[in-house]
Amino acid sequence: MIAPTVGGLTVQNLSVRYGRVQAVSGVSFSVADGESLGIIGANGAGKSSTLKAIFRLIDSTAESMRFAGSSLQATPPHRVVSLGMAYVPEGRRIFVGLSVRKNLMMGAYRSSWRHLGDRIERVYELFPALKKLDGVLAGALSGGQQQMLAIGRALLSEPKLLVLDEPSMGLAPVLIDDIAATLRRLRDQGVSMLLVEQNAKLTFGLTDRCIVLENGRVVKEGPSAILRADPAVRQIYLGL
Ligand code: ATP
Repeated sequence: MIAPTVGGLTVQNLSVRYGRVQAVSGVSFSVADGESLGIIGANGAGKSSTLKAIFRLIDSTAESMRFAGSSLQATPPHRVVSLGMAYVPEGRRIFVGLSVRKNLMMGAYRSSWRHLGDRIERVYELFPALKKLDGVLAGALSGGQQQMLAIGRALLSEPKLLVLDEPSMGLAPVLIDDIAATLRRLRDQGVSMLLVEQNAKLTFGLTDRCIVLENGRVVKEGPSAILRADPAVRQIYLGL
């Protein structure tokens, strides 16, 4: 049973279908204010489709999808960010032909431009490496730097909920540790997070609770510390 939250995200009975492919089947979860939820699962389990549906980037059906007191189904896709959710997509999707600063400014596009300089400075405090690259074209950045930029850009809208799709994808272990440390700091600052990952170890370390998706369905859910100790989860998702 999903407890409805006033301020957070509540998704009830979400389904996504691409033609004959049923990608997501009746998925329900909630993320309360200040909480971090992980969605783990193998390739093709339906993780990205779940996030795209929440952001209204693809068609879906749901009994209800609410965020910050508003119905997401009744919100046009371009207004979802204004409700206070920011999306760091799989593969980063940064603007390679724009400088680091201009990429960050694009993150404020759907929100207010007030105190933009201060907000960029706050991102630079979080990612000091980016500050040194302020005027550099984003296409010249390493994969780890591009991931930091993608997260920084999402933070420019000052989201209540940060939604990340596979932030560790394609990164060397040392860079994954850097990203994890930054996300931990954000979490400790009270930013709510919805983290989608194939990297279960990373996800368990960063989240309060997790759901496990298989073939578009929730097959397990619970506190991250409990799931991490679950023998089946350890075998399938942690290779232990
Ligand atoms: P990955 O970790 O590889 O991104 P995922 O868990 O995010 O996987 P989805 O990308 O949501 O999974 O895909 C779920 C299912 O839907 C898969 O069977 C996939 O092949 C299928 N699928 C995803 N996008 C499309 C699409 N645009 N058209 C048809 N089928 C799709």
